[in-house]
Amino acid sequence: MSAKKSPFLFNCYDLPRRAGEMREFELNIDAPDDFGLPLFKIDPATPIEVDLTISAVSEGVLATAEVRATAHGECTRCLEPIEQDIDQSFTELFYYQSSRPSRSKAAAPEELGEDDNLVMDGDEIDLELPVRDALILNLPLNPLCRPDCQGLCPDCGVKWDELPGDHGESGHDKTDIRWAGLEKLQEQMNPGAEPGL
Ligand SMILES: [Zn+2]
Ligand SMILES: [Zn+2]
Repeated sequence: MSAKKSPFLFNCYDLPRRAGEMREFELNIDAPDDFGLPLFKIDPATPIEVDLTISAVSEGVLATAEVRATAHGECTRCLEPIEQDIDQSFTELFYYQSSRPSRSKAAAPEELGEDDNLVMDGDEIDLELPVRDALILNLPLNPLCRPDCQGLCPDCGVKWDELPGDHGESGHDKTDIRWAGLEKLQEQMNPGAEPGL
């Protein structure tokens, strides 16, 4: 356990444990580094905005929230920087420790999701999982600057958008760019030798 508290922990001490009680909060949560997908992340410099409503119900605290953030990445075809605004919501029930659903003999063991119940830690609820799900499950694995991005010319690495229409039709110089330097060197060392041998 790290000494630093998770920015996603929220203390509900303000909310009386009486069904029907409700409180609203506007939170700005600093995204940890690396919050997102490998190619598309929530910028740590821009806080995640969470409009949180907590309601007391008999078994715990029901959290409903609107979550807004901006994801940054680069187009997987042309490497152009891109960003996407995300606006999602979630509803999640956090059980009081005292009313945590137990794996009793009565409960069907094969019942799905039983282990996924979120339980409060004292008065605290941990919003990381629902926030992460709301933001990240909706991000594209391979972000594109636009759906029909043409990417880069594989030979010269220039964006197709910035190249003339006939580019590539006549083909690039037959010499692969990676070998051009070697060929020159070979020429210097063996003047008069047949190139390419
Ligand atoms: Zn692109
Ligand atoms: Zn090219």
